[in-house]
Amino acid sequence: MKKILKKVLLFGVLIICGLWYILGGQNLNLGNINNKNNLVQEAEVNDKDKSEQEIEVEDKDKFKQGVEVKDKKKDEYQQETKVKDEEKSEQAANINIKEELLLVNRKHGLSKDYIPKGLSIPNIQFLSKSENDERHVAGIVVKPLEELINTAKAEGIILLGNSGYRSYKSQQDVYKSRVKSQGKKLADAYVAKPGFSEHQSGLCIDVTNKSRYFVDGTKEADWLAKNCYRFGFIIRYPKEKKSVTGIEHEPWHIRYVGKKAAKYIHDNGIALEEYLGK
Ligand SMILES: [Zn+2]
Repeated sequence: MKKILKKVLLFGVLIICGLWYILGGQNLNLGNINNKNNLVQEAEVNDKDKSEQEIEVEDKDKFKQGVEVKDKKKDEYQQETKVKDEEKSEQAANINIKEELLLVNRKHGLSKDYIPKGLSIPNIQFLSKSENDERHVAGIVVKPLEELINTAKAEGIILLGNSGYRSYKSQQDVYKSRVKSQGKKLADAYVAKPGFSEHQSGLCIDVTNKSRYFVDGTKEADWLAKNCYRFGFIIRYPKEKKSVTGIEHEPWHIRYVGKKAAKYIHDNGIALEEYLGK
């Protein structure tokens, strides 16, 4: 019996050992599998993280690039705007030089095709005999001229418009008829050749009074000489300046140059040629 018991015990121990071995091995294997799973998961997570980070970085880059592109576009736009503004101010400056301070005399002529901008008839009283075409002045002259005439009226001085803009062709007609009636010498002394009359610029106008006797010493001529600068006008052909302007004194011919230039010319008793240094 003892022998049989011993065998059973030994067999049992063997079975237990075997089972323990098998189970232990499985555990080990499970451990390995778990480790493997962990590694795979970690690797996946890492990959995910990496790709997420990469995407984030890419997105950031893209965003940055987008912003940079936008900024560049902004800069370009700002530069373009700046250039346009500069062009505008240059154009404005040119307009001032070309229009308000445009010099027309016997040396500086206008082309046959020159027509002043914004030609229109000012709302003032005209000499009834004045021609409709010659009632026009350049756009920039309209308001200052109306102010001058209205202020004069308020101060008891009646000024009448007589002759403003004259086209190249009408100046040609005036010159030709004067040559015919008075001879070339007298015509050249008093009438500008076509293209060399300031009247073609639309910046000047001959005014007169009701008696049509507009000379120094009349209250109208004296008021005009004293006050026209306040509205941006000058007596274009002053006394004692024939050597500079090339034209006899004309108390009736006023020229718009803008308030700043008019005040300087008035205060210093100079001609437009002297003001412009020509
Ligand atoms: Zn004139």
